[in-house]
Amino acid sequence: MGYTVSKAFGSKVFSDSVMRERLPRATYESLKKTRDEGLPLDPEVAQVVAGVMKDWAVEQGATHYTHWFQPMTNITAGKHDSFVSPSGDGRAILEFSGKALAMGEPDASSFPSGGLRATFEARGYTAWDATSPAFVRGTSLYIPTAFCSFTGETLDRKTPLLRSMDVLSTQALRVLRCLGNETARRVTATIGAEQEYFLIDRALYEKRLDLKICGRTLFGARPPKGQELDDHYCGRIRLRVADFMQELDERLWELGVPSKTKHNEVAPAQHELAPMFTSANIACDHNQLIMELMRVVAKQKGLACLLHEKPFAGVNGSGKHNNWSLSTDDGQNLLDPGKNPAQNRQFLLFLCAVIRAVDEYADLLRMTAASAGNDHRLGGHEAPPAVISIFLGESLTSILEHIAYGSTPERHSRGYIMEDIAALPTIHRDDCDRNRTSPFAFTGNKFEYRMVGSSASIASATYVLNTAVADVLSGIADRLSAAQNREAEIDRIIGEIYKQHGRVVFNGNNYSEAWANEAARRGLPVKNRTVEAVEALVAPKNIALFKRHGIFTEAECRARYEILLEQYVKTVSIEEATMTEMVRRQILPAALRYTGALAGEYTHMREAGVESATAKALLAACAALTDAVQQKTDALEASSQSVQALTELPAQAAAYRDEIIPQMQAIREDVDRLETMTEDSAWPMPSYTDLLHRV
Ligand code: ADP
Ligand code: MG
Repeated sequence: MGYTVSKAFGSKVFSDSVMRERLPRATYESLKKTRDEGLPLDPEVAQVVAGVMKDWAVEQGATHYTHWFQPMTNITAGKHDSFVSPSGDGRAILEFSGKALAMGEPDASSFPSGGLRATFEARGYTAWDATSPAFVRGTSLYIPTAFCSFTGETLDRKTPLLRSMDVLSTQALRVLRCLGNETARRVTATIGAEQEYFLIDRALYEKRLDLKICGRTLFGARPPKGQELDDHYCGRIRLRVADFMQELDERLWELGVPSKTKHNEVAPAQHELAPMFTSANIACDHNQLIMELMRVVAKQKGLACLLHEKPFAGVNGSGKHNNWSLSTDDGQNLLDPGKNPAQNRQFLLFLCAVIRAVDEYADLLRMTAASAGNDHRLGGHEAPPAVISIFLGESLTSILEHIAYGSTPERHSRGYIMEDIAALPTIHRDDCDRNRTSPFAFTGNKFEYRMVGSSASIASATYVLNTAVADVLSGIADRLSAAQNREAEIDRIIGEIYKQHGRVVFNGNNYSEAWANEAARRGLPVKNRTVEAVEALVAPKNIALFKRHGIFTEAECRARYEILLEQYVKTVSIEEATMTEMVRRQILPAALRYTGALAGEYTHMREAGVESATAKALLAACAALTDAVQQKTDALEASSQSVQALTELPAQAAAYRDEIIPQMQAIREDVDRLETMTEDSAWPMPSYTDLLHRV
């Protein structure tokens, strides 16, 4: 029998339907309440679920189980225990207790903690997250969990995300009640995270130390053809890539990841995968699986998947588009404008809550996109600049302006497209064009946050947005419940928010120079690089926000700040060490050999009575560049030693940004020039053309 998607989809997931079928009715109902309404988990329920889950997992071929968690690295972790227990008579029985399902005790000492955890308190705890389904991968049952330290501080990205989901639901429900909704019991933040990535040939990848160690090229002269012709975007998918995508889809579908759309992206060798949206927490787990499986499947297919934000200089980098919205369990998308947005007060109120949240916490949102990798991409005329603004489109903007300032809203007749061709279906013109340059764009019935880097977890961006919006909704609910005339109060709130926070709305071209100046004039925070951007985590107003909603303590905020700075420092220092090694062990030897060969040819020619100006000039240029590279690398190593000796983390991070990165850039420029002068076969690593055009 051939492959059937409907059968395969979710076949490795301990899904709702599996649970309904296999769990005793009361257990199922109780678990469902925990999952859908955030109620506490009953230990007896865990005991029953564990037994059923184990039997199901063993049927799927599992011999082990793992608490799967998301420490402050950008990847997931887990340690695998077998179900096997000795039975006493020399045989083995398979066991899995409710306690083992509900809680684990991994050693936390080797995960980033930002100084929260003393080494003698090595233990950490993992706790079952019943809101995201368990699944079988290979021979292990994966149980999604939250991860905290022995003393209860959060050490992961899931815990704050789960907290923010609850906080957001509570506050959104308060507002909905004020608007007369008595039926909704849960409001869920939904996410559809589009994932960009590069695929290159594995054998070529293996020849590049920089790609293997750093995930990006540290050298590489511009290829004769990059993305100039715009002929890659949504172009024909090459057979090898199509084969990869098909296998990836099938593996994801088994795990219940609703991979939906695949296409070629702008840069050569760049592609994108978009899943269907789902609850933010599950979407976050799914995105981790997508990234992991992309790497694994690529390797199987003789390819390498690059998830770095900027693997190649001069061609577009990769990001992650976080589509975010709010849906109620009574079936509404709270950001759906409906047929008549001007009259849809509920929509306008939630829209304004987002506008205010994004303006007040723009710095925090920017922080969620900060990483050494993304510094190479943001603001590069391919990705949004490092300034947060919101695209609303003309028609919504004029509705809000009307409410705030009483100006007459412009009539935007939607009209039709291609009416003149009878054979084509009639297409309604969209209310707003998709402004692709905006970091935070309203796209019809959701917002799309586009700054997050391709290798990052989407959790931070999501819990920041959830918490900030919950905070604003809480203020709105307070006002509405105290108001005599709620209708009038709603309009007042909308008007006030637009007056105070309309500055964050920008419908123009975010890539233009004029916008950078305009943003500064409007007083919007401009944080160009990671070192500045992560300071948002320790700004008093942001610490207060997280404390107010029980997301983080002050110590946890400071720890996260440290972790991000530390990651920045480590990333740049590894890149520096990789560059030095490549220069000393690959580039200089090759350059010397090639220059030597040139010298030999030049001498031969002279002996034969020929004076070649070309040979002479080339020889001199190669020798000079080789010397320059050698000297600059010596200088880089010296600077690196003094930067490593700095003891204050913020100062050290700033020194990497201001001293090390510019020196590395200068070395790269010389090496890239040397590459363009060197005979193809004499260059010690595959070129950009090889990497980008040989899949
Ligand atoms: P594009 O952004 O290219 O115009 P789509 O509008 O089809 O594409 O959606 C892109 C992504 O947005 C998909 O991953 C989709 O699942 C997600 N998405 C759509 N609706 C919502 C929603 N209500 N909440 C969160 N994500 C959504
Ligand atoms: Mg999109």
